[in-house]
Amino acid sequence: MKPYKMDNIKVLVVGGAGFIGSHMLKMLHKSGIHATCLDDLSTGYREAVRYGTLVEMDLAHAAAIEKFFAENSFDVVMHFASFIQVGESVLDPAKYYQNNFINTKNLLDAMIIHNVNNFIFSSTAAIYGDPQYTPINEIHPKHPVNPYGRSKWMVEQMLEDYDRAYGLKSITLRYFNAAGADPDGELAERHIPETHLIPIILRVAAGKSPHLQIFGSDYDTPDGTCIRDYVHVEDLCSAHLLAIEKLLSEKKSRQYNLGNGQGFSVKEVVEEAGRITKRPIAVLVSARRPGDVPVLVAEASLARTELNWHPQYSSLGDMVAHAWAANKKLS
Ligand code: UDP
Repeated sequence: MKPYKMDNIKVLVVGGAGFIGSHMLKMLHKSGIHATCLDDLSTGYREAVRYGTLVEMDLAHAAAIEKFFAENSFDVVMHFASFIQVGESVLDPAKYYQNNFINTKNLLDAMIIHNVNNFIFSSTAAIYGDPQYTPINEIHPKHPVNPYGRSKWMVEQMLEDYDRAYGLKSITLRYFNAAGADPDGELAERHIPETHLIPIILRVAAGKSPHLQIFGSDYDTPDGTCIRDYVHVEDLCSAHLLAIEKLLSEKKSRQYNLGNGQGFSVKEVVEEAGRITKRPIAVLVSARRPGDVPVLVAEASLARTELNWHPQYSSLGDMVAHAWAANKKLS
């Protein structure tokens, strides 16, 4: 018998008002797990927190975070709260090191003081940098090429040290390109400003934006545009649920890539979105975006074998269709 019952555990979802965190709160709720959301609402939305209790707090305030852990008990902490724009991280690295690294350290330090030893961390394919081979597995060298990727890699290294020194156990999930939306159409992806490819394409399809700017068509790829491995938000969340079980039963730190192992170029995503939405999508080729690498495709077999992760929505068509349906409902 398992030494714990999943529906008895208490989970803290840091960044639960954001895109992936809000979907996570819904999945935890559907699984009968009690969750609290901690968010400063700097990029998230109060109305995205439909499941679980929202506590408004900024991770920069170390003393307040420590007090929060003194007054509440949790079995597992999931950390989704970070800044995620590659281009912005190049222009304003301080913002990224502050939030993604220093504020995460505040969170971990409070956890350690109050003996909360299970952490699930949202990391990224950006830690690998320009791939030396593809698809990328977890042991691929880590040479991030932008401050966003570096801030996440710094946390991963800190987690290794904190495990060794303080016994903090973590599962790190390295997302490739999060996409899609709640298949029920209740929750959607919303960022201001929106910088992600699929939501921007859908804005063009909806007539809210005149065209998509393709950032570079002279990459060394078959059609010259960047290739990414898109993974449905619902599948990312199911991996987190499996990670809770793994962490609580085995108490070992692990790192897993989350992707589908299939890459799509920017032009292919545009074509697919045209097919799903049946709307014309005007494009304009512009300069490369600083910090982008040509190809990022995951080798994610470790998550399949060790976490027993089986993505349900691996087709790009499903991801675009769910995002389209959810975005239409929201507007
Ligand atoms: N992209 C683009 N135009 C846009 C937004 C993104 O051409 O308006 C490209 C971007 O250069 C990258 C891919 O689409 O090659 C995916 O970018 P996104 O920002 O969605 O995710 P990232 O790969 O940066 O995590």
